Amino acid sequence: MSRIAIVGGGWAGIAAAVALADAGHDIHVLEMAPQLGGRARSVAGEPPYDNGQHILIGAYRDSLALMRRLGADPNQLLARLPLALPYPGEPGLRLPPGPPLLGFARGVLAHRGWPLSARLGLLGAAAGWLARGFRCDADLTVAQLCAGLAVDVRRDLVEPLCIAALNTPAPQASAQVFLRVLQDALFSGAGSADLLLPRRTLSELLAGPATTWLGPRLRLGCRVQKIGPGWRVDGEAFDGVVLACTSVEAARLTADLAPDWSAMAGALGFEPIVTVYLSSPGSRLPAPMLALRDGPDAPAQFVFDQGQLGGAPGRFAFVVSGAAPWVARGGCAEAVLAQARRELDWATPPVIDRLLAEKRATFACTPGLARPPGRIAPGLFAAGDYVQGPYPATLEGAVRAGLAAAQGMGTGAKGAASGSPTKTP
Ligand SMILES: Cc1cc2nc3c(=O)[nH]c(=O)nc-3n(C[C@H](O)[C@H](O)[C@H](O)COP(=O)(O)OP(=O)(O)OC[C@H]3O[C@@H](n4cnc5c(N)ncnc54)[C@H](O)[C@@H]3O)c2cc1C
Repeated sequence: MSRIAIVGGGWAGIAAAVALADAGHDIHVLEMAPQLGGRARSVAGEPPYDNGQHILIGAYRDSLALMRRLGADPNQLLARLPLALPYPGEPGLRLPPGPPLLGFARGVLAHRGWPLSARLGLLGAAAGWLARGFRCDADLTVAQLCAGLAVDVRRDLVEPLCIAALNTPAPQASAQVFLRVLQDALFSGAGSADLLLPRRTLSELLAGPATTWLGPRLRLGCRVQKIGPGWRVDGEAFDGVVLACTSVEAARLTADLAPDWSAMAGALGFEPIVTVYLSSPGSRLPAPMLALRDGPDAPAQFVFDQGQLGGAPGRFAFVVSGAAPWVARGGCAEAVLAQARRELDWATPPVIDRLLAEKRATFACTPGLARPPGRIAPGLFAAGDYVQGPYPATLEGAVRAGLAAAQGMGTGAKGAASGSPTKTP
């Protein structure tokens, strides 16, 4: 058994901790915040808020398995809906239940809002992506990949999916990562494209059960300042370390130990997400989730009716992804309120409840991006949504990175006690 420190208790750190503990290691999770969960946490309030609305999809296999492992039942905690992108007053694209690839073809053909030529063009492009194994030139953007599609298809499907999955606008987003998300949604079996919307707070999905499960192996309010060779974490000896903190903190902690790796982690750019909560007692949207058309005076791309998702009735979460222009410009909450009043019907006038702006919500998922590898040195691994992998910054990317770090550590930790860190990744 090795004594392993996990620095950071977001979804990546929790995944690594559980996998390492299950493999028989003596784990210690050091988390600087007063609670687990990282960016996917809940914020105190009455009733409590999430640090931004999160969506999972059926293809998030490892996240769902982790929830189950900790005794959290995804069937109870998540509302499963077939993928649909309704807009106010328009049914939008809907995938019928069943095999997702077939459902996609049927859903596109049945979408009367698009001219037949646009639907056939999309199916032709999708067949081409499939034939090429969902691979493309690493330097391509989503906008370039989809330039041949009809304007309606790009506006109603490609752009909202891209901003929702990659948190990066289509003209700047990596086509390769976008195709990988599509591949997993369409090819991971029945239900993989389904939307899984939290019915309870994010903390109830994972952080709460993980806190109970970890018990005394968890140290909250503990910000790690220094990692030394050997491995010493703020002077305390361990056989191995999983850095499951943010890329910025991981870069700081490895600056002397692994400068090349640190430089790579430190070079990542970020995209903000702003969530604006509005309240309007007695109001209800036509669906739990609606897509919205964003524009110069319309920040939000999606709105969620919390009341229809087991939360507070009359409370609505508006999501502004790729929000850098709004963070720079200001006035986002007021602009969302105006957008909401223009585009939706309300039983009572909506008012701004709260604005949450996460400036480093995700890394900017641009073409050809160099992401740092999970292995830093023998016995020193990084886990987080930003490490090398096929996924954008998502819960599933974080969980998979945590599992990969645990797997690497399983074979590397004991040897690390006598080894010294290398200066190369
Ligand atoms: C508003 C918003 C909306 C999002 N929507 C979605 C979505 O719909 N679907 C989806 O899949 N993903 C979504 N994401 C992305 C998702 O939340 C992240 O990909 C995921 O939570 C990252 O987990 P992580 O464990 O890699 O990192 P983090 O959650 O950032 O965890 C890192 C942890 O390390 C701790 N830490 C940092 N430094 C130290 C230190 N020195 N010592 C000790 N602890 C430290 C931090 O406190 C934190 O708890 C969203 C993110 C945001 C912000």
